[in-house]
This record gives sequence, structure tokens and C-alpha cells, in this order.
Amino acid sequence: MKRVVFTFFGLMAVVSLFSQWTPEQTEWYSPVPQKVTPGSKPGAPPSDAIILFDGKNLDQWMSGKDEPAKWQVVNGEMRVVPGTGEIKTKAFFGDCQLHIEFKSPAPENYHGQNRGNSGIILQCTYEVQVLDADNNPTYVNGMVGSIYKQSAPLANAYTKNGEWQVYDIYWKAPVFGSKGLESPAMITVVLNGILVQNNFILKGNTPYIGLPEYRAHGRLPLMLQDHGTAVAFRNIWIRDL
Ligand code: MG
Repeated sequence: MKRVVFTFFGLMAVVSLFSQWTPEQTEWYSPVPQKVTPGSKPGAPPSDAIILFDGKNLDQWMSGKDEPAKWQVVNGEMRVVPGTGEIKTKAFFGDCQLHIEFKSPAPENYHGQNRGNSGIILQCTYEVQVLDADNNPTYVNGMVGSIYKQSAPLANAYTKNGEWQVYDIYWKAPVFGSKGLESPAMITVVLNGILVQNNFILKGNTPYIGLPEYRAHGRLPLMLQDHGTAVAFRNIWIRDL
């Protein structure tokens, strides 16, 4: 046994003598990353972002039923008009970096899931919850910052009702092959600069009732939910990765 061990380490010593790595062997020069100019201030779109809403109109959006989007544009923000249904982008996306800001309406007498509920639904399928979390208890895997009914946020990063909340979302789309799911979706979510989802691997879609499941799809629109309250959105841009 002793002799075997000695022989092994002796052999390794000889190998390392003759296989010295150089720094250059682990460096590469292409492809060169594309030059992207950062936004003019924090939250402003970088040079390669697709502007989905800049406060002016809903030109990039349509209703979930492929009709003109019926939400309201006022004072540089777009607002859910309750009952008009969800809206979705005309463009389709896969992996992406998304910036979106939202503001909850006055709470009135609404509580829990009825207070300021909307949703950022990636690829029309996977919901990052939008909800008022200002003194508004609810199930934690359905609060703001959650992946709806799959993952509670790492922190409650919501500030106050009536203040703008800033989401930055980093999305790795699921990949499907001929035999079904090849790699699941993965998401990182930052709310108001605070990490609330850290590379969470999704179990599938985000249904209200029942367990998540995957169904094969390709690139799909980004969707915003109408859950019956007049949530406002502004400064929406996306980097198509
Ligand atoms: Mg929702």
C-alpha cells in the first residue's frame, strides 16, 4: 500500500514538472462583448434596451386578447383600468433583463391579495408578484417580491403605499427540447436595490390553484396583470439577451 501511495505522488510530481500552465493558456480574446452605454442615471435605460413604456403611450402593448391595450396613460404613468384585462408586449422575449417601476393605489378598505395586486408575468407564464406590502399581511409566497406560490422573497423590500417601487429582474428562460424540459427557468429579482430572489429555479408556471408545471414554449410576450386594482407602472425597459 505504502509503495502504491508513493508511486502515485511521485507520478504527480513528475507530471506537474512537465505540464506547467502559462497565464496565456487560460485567457481568450473573442468574441469581444458588445459595447453598451449605461443609462444617464440609475434606472435609466442603457443604450441597447428596448423601451416598453416611457410615459407617453401604449404603442408597445396590446390586450391579452390581441386587441388594443385599454389601460390608461396619465401623468407619464400607465395604470390598470380594472376589468379591461391584462396587457402584453407586441414583442416576444426569452432571456432578458427587465426594469419596471410600480406604485400601489390608495389602499382604501382592501386587504391581502386584494390590495394593489398586479403582476409581472414573464413569457405570459411566470408571475413575479406585484402587491402592496405596506402593513398588509398575506401568504408570504404571494407577497411582493415572490415568485407567485413558489418562492417567498428573501426580504420585504417594499417601502410605503403611494411611493414608486423599483424592480430589476434577471430572467433565464426555460429550455425545451423534443423530450420536454431541458433546463428550468431561473430568476434573480432585485426590489428597490435589495435582492429578493437569488437565482431561484422555477418549478413551472405560477397558477392560483394547484401545483406548478412546465409546458413547452418558445419566446413569448411580457405580460402585466389586471387583478382589479389601479396599479400604476412607469419606466419599463428590457434588454433582450
Ligand atoms: Mg398578482
